[in-house]
Parts: sequence; C-alpha cells; structure tokens
Amino acid sequence: MQRDLQRALAKPMRERKWGMVIDTRKCVGCSSCTVACVMENKLPPGVVYRPVIDTEVGDYPNVTRKFLARPCMQCDSPPCVSVCPVGATWKREDGIVEIDYNACIGCRYCITACPYQARTFDFGENWTDPAATGKDGALALETGRRYQTEPSFEYGNEWTRAEGVIPRSPVGNARKCTFCAHRLQAEMLPACVSTCIGRATFFGDLNDPRSLVSELIARNNAVRLKEELGTEPKVYYLV
Ligand code: SF4
Ligand code: SF4
Repeated sequence: MQRDLQRALAKPMRERKWGMVIDTRKCVGCSSCTVACVMENKLPPGVVYRPVIDTEVGDYPNVTRKFLARPCMQCDSPPCVSVCPVGATWKREDGIVEIDYNACIGCRYCITACPYQARTFDFGENWTDPAATGKDGALALETGRRYQTEPSFEYGNEWTRAEGVIPRSPVGNARKCTFCAHRLQAEMLPACVSTCIGRATFFGDLNDPRSLVSELIARNNAVRLKEELGTEPKVYYLV
C-alpha cells in the first residue's frame, strides 16, 4: 500500500482517485480505527468520523456478530455538497470531499443530506466537561486538557478548538472523515488503515490498475453501501 501511495502522489492530483476497501470478514470489531481517528484528528465528545457498527445476526443458538466500519464514503456524486448554502464543502480533484471550517456557518443541511450519517456536528463540547469526565474526573482533566489544546491538521491546515480562537476552529461546524488528507500529503496512510489490527482496511488509488484497492474491488465480493442512490461511494466492502 505504501508503494501504491507513492506512485499515486507522483501523479498530478486530478489523475488520482482515492478509495478505501474494508474487508468485513476480517474486521474483529476492536474499534482501534475509531480510536486512532479520534486521536489523529483531536475529536471531541460526540464527533466520530469512523464508527464501527456492531450488529447481531441469526437466531439463538446460531448467532454471530457482524462489524461494519463506516467512514465518509467520499462520494463521487456527494449529496452533502449541493445543499450547502455557502459553498463551504466541495469535492477535490482527487475525490476527497472537503469542508472549509472558516466558511461553514453550521446550518447542518449537509448532515441531513448525507445518506450514510457520515457527518457530525461539533457543538464545542470537551472531554474535560463535567458530563464527559464522570467519576474518574481528575485523570481525565489532566490528560484531557493537554489533548484538547493540541491542534488538528485536517485538510493540511492547523485547527485549534481552544476557546476564543474561532474562526480558525472547527467548533460550530459540520465535521467528517477526510481520508486523513493531511497524512496523505506527507506520504502516510490514513490513521485507521495503519492501526487496523485485523488488517481489514486497505487504501489507495482507484485510478491505478496496479494498486491493491483496484485489485480487491475487481473481485465479485466487493459491494458498496446504498448503491441505488447513485452517490458513487469510494468505500468498498468485501463480504
Ligand atoms: S458519505 Fe455523506 S458526507 Fe461523505 S461524501 Fe457522501 S454524502 Fe458527503
Ligand atoms: S453545516 Fe456548514 S458545510 Fe454543512 S451545509 Fe451548512 S454551511 Fe455548508
């Protein structure tokens, strides 16, 4: 995957099409990817970019659990973009759907328009708030304060959630998975891909026939969510 990444980054941006493949048969539901994403993007309570949805299927005693990691699909025809009244969200040349936190007015139209529930809203809550710290408050306060004053680097910019720094802050804005665009810029795979203990998440350039993701989606067990909507998701699942 690292070689695929380097090959893609050597091309002009418009010739790349980033995509992700998640093998549902290998996902063990550990949520390492969810946590890695929270750490990477300094996400506050209530803002999750990559939940792992846990469902139980079958009838007792023949039951099993299925796990579905659900990042933003970075749709090729993204319904979240056209509804934005201020043009604060758009699809980049490489297919990543971006949000400009300085332009977003927090109307949340895009959150309603997304058929995958991939966008959440940053209400300005912090891990050190009383509701979040609970009875282990002292430790949470110490580590939480340090964590929440560190900037995130989404879309290659520096964003700080500390009070009083608006507008250079995502507080009061829609937020979502970025495929770790800032890490890609530095030739690093998305945090969820690097941390997946089941080796169930793959990433690369869908325009490159030699990439691992292209090879995986050519198989007949690759599916996309809600294909009938015509959103053209760039996240595929192996089933
Ligand atoms: S999954 Fe939702 S937020 Fe992501 S591009 Fe598609 S419509 Fe937009
Ligand atoms: S919440 Fe922000 S990005 Fe979403 S539609 Fe409103 S202004 Fe646009």
